[in-house]
Amino acid sequence: MKKRDLPSKICLTCKRPFSWRKKWERDWEHVKYCSVKCKRNKRHESH
Ligand SMILES: [Zn+2]
Repeated sequence: MKKRDLPSKICLTCKRPFSWRKKWERDWEHVKYCSVKCKRNKRHESH
């Protein structure tokens, strides 16, 4: 394990892991996409 163990999540659009970023520090628990691009490209696959 690294000393700086940042949290990470899996992007719902591209299915790739992304790490915590400073800009998300207030909103991390609500972050679901690695980027704005992915957020715009979100699919409704369950539909
Ligand atoms: Zn993504």
